[in-house]
Amino acid sequence: MSAYANAKALGRDAVLEKIKAMNLYEAGVYREKMIDHIQKAQEAAAEEGADMCAVAALNNADTDMVFLELVRQAPDKILAGAAIAAIASGAGKAVLMLPEKEGELADSLKEKAAEYGVEVVNEFLNIRQNQTNLLVHIASCADLADAFSGSYEPGIYAAVNGAALKKVPADKKVSEIVDVSAAKAVQVGYAYYTPQECDAEVGALNPANGIIRVLTEKDCIVDNAAKATLACKAQSCGKCVFCREGLIQLEFMQSETTKGRGKMEFLDLTKEIGEAMGFSTPCSMGQQCARISLSAMGKFASEYEAHIKKKTCPAGVCQAFVMIYVDPAVCTGCGDCLDVCPKGCIEGKPKFIHMIDEFECDRCGKCVEACEEECIHITTGKVPKLPDRLTKVGKFKKKRH
Ligand code: SF4
Ligand code: SF4
Ligand code: SF4
Repeated sequence: MSAYANAKALGRDAVLEKIKAMNLYEAGVYREKMIDHIQKAQEAAAEEGADMCAVAALNNADTDMVFLELVRQAPDKILAGAAIAAIASGAGKAVLMLPEKEGELADSLKEKAAEYGVEVVNEFLNIRQNQTNLLVHIASCADLADAFSGSYEPGIYAAVNGAALKKVPADKKVSEIVDVSAAKAVQVGYAYYTPQECDAEVGALNPANGIIRVLTEKDCIVDNAAKATLACKAQSCGKCVFCREGLIQLEFMQSETTKGRGKMEFLDLTKEIGEAMGFSTPCSMGQQCARISLSAMGKFASEYEAHIKKKTCPAGVCQAFVMIYVDPAVCTGCGDCLDVCPKGCIEGKPKFIHMIDEFECDRCGKCVEACEEECIHITTGKVPKLPDRLTKVGKFKKKRH
């Protein structure tokens, strides 16, 4: 019997009993026992005298959307899970709410969804309009369907270091899931953690967006936080002042820092704004996205100080701090670099030391590959004295003596 048919045959009370007995958890940001999660939603609906609907969705804060793989790979499972959530909560209706940009996926599921009595829509989850509904994470739907088809495995879904989603045990330490020996930081869900903090269990750190990812010395925390905050800013519905304005400010401070225009006061300002967003916003977007900046700046302040005070990116990622130059003592003036430069930012002529226009160059590295003399260097370290005008090969050194 299918999971949905099984749950229907059991009836609501037995379904709830099974959810409780199996110790199922709501996935995502609002991780808690599923039975408590359902009960809270029922109480909220009862208080308002509202008809409840079971809404299966991602968390609004989820910009990576790795959980959509579950929908793509096993749509029946997610639809069955949404329908079972409706049975468990006594909701009169079940909806699968996909992100706004997933119109094609939503359309492809509508016919199948009708078999489960589930409506499929693609829109941003309006948290205020859904206050009396049971919001159930898409990963929880997968768990519900597995529980009622007899194939449930305990654990939390996570894409570890970019691999496909899989279940990882909630009671295992994060440091047992990923190798932290060469880690600078580990991203778990919406926060960055130090390798030492990864002695905590997966369930405690909660990869709410399905992400567990090691950042090494080659990764720049500031750059990562800036990109993640930019994605949040783009996804925020902008209806709440604290989320809308807060994300603009946080993203500005992160990106300015990557561009060499950071200020030390950004650290305190980030804390102030981030903490205010945490308790002044109604949905996971404002609450969780602030954690990205707060954890990055709070725990990896030395990375920010390096960018702001020392004007360097320790990982060599932030382009504003990465210098590129032709070693004038080695260049033969062959012109190979000039031929491959897509930006046309190398100046030179045969038998003259070639020069790179730092401002035009986008550090694509093509010239580095093309130079057989290996005299083009990309570095965050010191740059030797360079010619300021076209100089014949062999003459520059003489000039300096
Ligand atoms: S917290 Fe952000 S995403 Fe959530 S409702 Fe408010 S503005 Fe929209
Ligand atoms: S790194 Fe790319 S853009 Fe810059 S000088 Fe070399 S080839 Fe041109
Ligand atoms: S390819 Fe290398 S050696 Fe040749 S001109 Fe360019 S920098 Fe000089």
